[in-house]
Amino acid sequence: MLSRTTRGGAAALVLLLLTAWAAAPWVATASVPAAAWTAAETPKLIALTFDDGPRRSTTTALLDGLAQRGVKATFFLIGAQLEHNEDLIRRMDAEGHQIGIHTYDHVALTGLSKASFAAQVALTRQKLMAILGHDGFLLRPPYGAVDDAVRKNAGCPIILWSIDPEDWGDQNAAREIEHVVANAQDGSIILLHDIFPPSVEAALAIVDRLHAQGYLFVTVEELFAARHITLEAGEVYRDAYP
Ligand SMILES: [Zn+2]
Repeated sequence: MLSRTTRGGAAALVLLLLTAWAAAPWVATASVPAAAWTAAETPKLIALTFDDGPRRSTTTALLDGLAQRGVKATFFLIGAQLEHNEDLIRRMDAEGHQIGIHTYDHVALTGLSKASFAAQVALTRQKLMAILGHDGFLLRPPYGAVDDAVRKNAGCPIILWSIDPEDWGDQNAAREIEHVVANAQDGSIILLHDIFPPSVEAALAIVDRLHAQGYLFVTVEELFAARHITLEAGEVYRDAYP
């Protein structure tokens, strides 16, 4: 198990290594010196991702709990929910979380015309850019629905997941925690939804349980950069196993 100090040092190193990489957010630098970590020091990396937000009550509680734990996550946001939540979105960005696109109206992107696709993805991207002043947003298609047209029109990497406790179903935090902890691996991407109070409760308990097992929580971009995987527009990614 890693000590708290070791985890903090590793987190600082990951952040340092990623600083040079901000200009092209999903293009990982080739110079990440993995050799700087000995095998014994290399933390297990894992990414928490949240879809369908923001929702003021639950997302705020989640951000508070992640901040207390020093954990960075990735949020795939709904365009129609950005208005009146600009402060929450700026807070996510300022606190080091990664922000991505989950369409404007939470629709499947498969089978859409080019214009409808743009109204779901490009419009959400524009609104996020107006709020945050930068681009670099990854795409998570609702329902994980991807086909050739979605890949072609995405204009950015497509991020799916490897652990899905289906938290939208019974909304049972205890069951979700056990599912995620039992399936966690170095390089996993966890899917939760920050619009349900039990999911927020589960997420924070998952962080505590996996911290005790030596996991370091990173954003999606940090996860792939640490694994020397270059994210490419139109490609689909589900995990970053070593
Ligand atoms: Zn969704």
